[in-house]
Amino acid sequence: MEDLGHRVSPEVNSGRIAVLGGGWAGLAAAVTLARAGRPVDVYEAARTLGGRARRVEIDGIALDNGQHILLGAYRDSLAIIRAAGGDPEKLLLRLPLELAFPGAFRLRAPRSLPAPLHLLVGLIDAQGLSFAEKFAAIRFMVGMQLNGFNIADDITVAELIRRHAQPPQVVRYLWEPLCIAALNTAIGDSSARIFLRVLRDAFTQGARDSDLLIPRADLGALFPDLAAAAVSKAGGRVRLGESVDSLAADASGWRIGSGTGAEHYAAVACALPPWRAADLLPPQCAHVAAQLRALAHEPILTCYLQYPPHTHLPRPMIGLSREISQWAFDRGQLDGPAGLVAVVVSAAGRLRGIDAAELAAAIHAELREVVPGLETPQWHRVISEKRATFKAAPGLSRPAAGLLLPGLALAGDFVDSGYPATIEGAVRSGIAAARALLGETRAA
Ligand SMILES: Cc1cc2nc3c(=O)[nH]c(=O)nc-3n(C[C@H](O)[C@H](O)[C@H](O)COP(=O)(O)OP(=O)(O)OC[C@H]3O[C@@H](n4cnc5c(N)ncnc54)[C@H](O)[C@@H]3O)c2cc1C
Repeated sequence: MEDLGHRVSPEVNSGRIAVLGGGWAGLAAAVTLARAGRPVDVYEAARTLGGRARRVEIDGIALDNGQHILLGAYRDSLAIIRAAGGDPEKLLLRLPLELAFPGAFRLRAPRSLPAPLHLLVGLIDAQGLSFAEKFAAIRFMVGMQLNGFNIADDITVAELIRRHAQPPQVVRYLWEPLCIAALNTAIGDSSARIFLRVLRDAFTQGARDSDLLIPRADLGALFPDLAAAAVSKAGGRVRLGESVDSLAADASGWRIGSGTGAEHYAAVACALPPWRAADLLPPQCAHVAAQLRALAHEPILTCYLQYPPHTHLPRPMIGLSREISQWAFDRGQLDGPAGLVAVVVSAAGRLRGIDAAELAAAIHAELREVVPGLETPQWHRVISEKRATFKAAPGLSRPAAGLLLPGLALAGDFVDSGYPATIEGAVRSGIAAARALLGETRAA
């Protein structure tokens, strides 16, 4: 392969750009490029856009491959939805942070106070903790704030909270649920550095940053459908069902091979999942490919339970903190079908091999302990995403955002944004990749 060190073709200024992968990272890149007036081709192997945050149809009902929630701090996600023509305030239900485990624990952070005071007052008012437990949690947050939410050496979250003598109730209802929800990694395996980054962004800058944003539309309608329209409007194409099988430099840009042949592009944003990107990156990127291959992954399981339509959970989202189930969402209160409940099981590797009907029965039994009187579900469906996120382990080595080679930028939730594998991490990386390509073309 030729040496790419010097080459930025003048054609980059006008030529078509390929975006590989139609997940949130690829679509964020595509919308950013489209809004800068650049025609893009989005290659997506599946028949649906959205990747790991996508719409699925079950018996004619539009659901999601997994229940997702966003945070008020996800500024770039909200901005890209707006840039694609959506209104996040309509598409998402915004709730002040409330961790409610019915009958056991409740924390509500009042939005009327500035951050981080709202969390401190929320902790003082929390139900289900003794005075000593509240004081321990407050001491932890104040200690972290004084350190700027940094630690010298990355350790596990379990070790961090052990060093700060956090009582079991505080761990069970606060740190563990927050860590598993944000990092999808058990506290004994999670990076304290990544966890602290999420705590810092959610709790210390603005009181609305810790708001929970729960989609009231299916995940396709939340952004991917809008992104596809924005791409087409700018003269680009969304190529569904086209799996990219080669990526190689040519004289003035890049050649992308897929089932329909090979095409030339001025530049490429590669937003494939890490396991696929590792196989396609050119040989000069071997060190990045090795980083991607070294990532371990964690599953997430979503169990949909359809109860009779008169069924309601006490809130749109409740914490369960049971042996299997972590959170339950009442889709009926989120503009979905009445009586439909989605139960989320993060870091679900321990459940591998369990039969779906058995699992749904166990999850229903756990839900009944918290919401007494629930009738038997009319149907259930378990969706298991085996590689939902990378495992956010301490000391993880992740590739940097931006250009890998002239005309080739990397994006994806695995890129080092400081964030765990989230919609926000994916979107940030996509915007950064697009800007790197646009910056490069302007300089050419
Ligand atoms: C069940 C579940 C629950 C989650 N919950 C949350 C949550 O509550 N909050 C949150 O912020 N995040 C959550 N996440 C994480 C979030 O969904 C991901 O971090 C994010 O969607 C990753 O986006 P991405 O674009 O980086 O990657 P992907 O979504 O993996 O996108 C890559 C795309 O490339 C396509 N592709 C693969 N190979 C090829 C090929 N050869 N050619 C063309 N296209 C190809 C794939 O089909 C895919 O569409 C959850 C994930 C799952 C699975």
